[in-house]
Amino acid sequence: MKTVSRIDDLRRRCDAARAEGAEIGFVPTMGSLHEGHRSLLRAARADTDVVVASIFVNSLQFGPGEDFAAYPRDLDTDSAMAADDGVDLLFVPSSAEMYPTDPLTTVHVSGLTRGLCGASRPTFFDGVATVVTKLLSIVGPCRAYFGRKDYQQFAVVKRLVADLDLPVEVVGCPLVREPDGVAMSSRNAYLDGDTRARATVLYEALSSVVDAVQEGERNARLLRDRLADLVSREPALTLDYADVVDATTLAPVSGNRRGDRGRGRRRRGRRPAHRQHDDPRRWR
Ligand code: AMP
Repeated sequence: MKTVSRIDDLRRRCDAARAEGAEIGFVPTMGSLHEGHRSLLRAARADTDVVVASIFVNSLQFGPGEDFAAYPRDLDTDSAMAADDGVDLLFVPSSAEMYPTDPLTTVHVSGLTRGLCGASRPTFFDGVATVVTKLLSIVGPCRAYFGRKDYQQFAVVKRLVADLDLPVEVVGCPLVREPDGVAMSSRNAYLDGDTRARATVLYEALSSVVDAVQEGERNARLLRDRLADLVSREPALTLDYADVVDATTLAPVSGNRRGDRGRGRRRRGRRPAHRQHDDPRRWR
């Protein structure tokens, strides 16, 4: 594995790989790698000839008062994991390398970014969309891998790639959970033992709603209320949002839609096996 910190160096190496006919797979991350990230690295390794991963804590996607300075960083451990998972090129740029001047050009994906996480983090997705566009332009991958843990981010990246005709396939990878069901996240390191133990309520609430859907419940308001109610029973947690949205447009689903039951059943039947990992009960 070669570690590269300069954009021109990485671009030259990626150009050379493509000139030899290699397909490049790309996994952008902010580091502090765990099994969730590693599942993306392994998917890229299995699918493509040259695997490029980036580790960059992107200041542009942190709002004022957010955890940019505190975000966990451990390059030595990350490098060992990336090498172990078969990464060929590890891109670790400085902020000055990525943003030599305050960018006057940013990428804004409207609509999809207004609700859910975008409601409380109004500049977050502009930061993500801008850095992802820059990284895709530098690396030039055939495929880029994103986790469906951050589902809104995945939908935003898919849409920006389609809108801008970027020549890359965006691959959504299954959410990887801890044995007790909590989604793996670098930020779980912020939780003390007691809060971390209580976080399982999120998984339990989601599982309960999945059960209800699989038993035929299609009333979105009822499902949303059930989710919010189950989470709010845990006084240590403050709920940011609970919603039921369309998987592509992320628009809130309201009430029952005629024929939803039948369509839901048919869709489930056709679901490719790898998508079924999103069912939170697989980690029960
Ligand atoms: P981050 O380092 O948090 O920016 O995440 C980098 C990539 O890893 C993103 O595409 C995330 O969605 C993905 N990722 C992070 N945690 C998980 C997880 N638990 N399961 C699957 N993918 C994940």
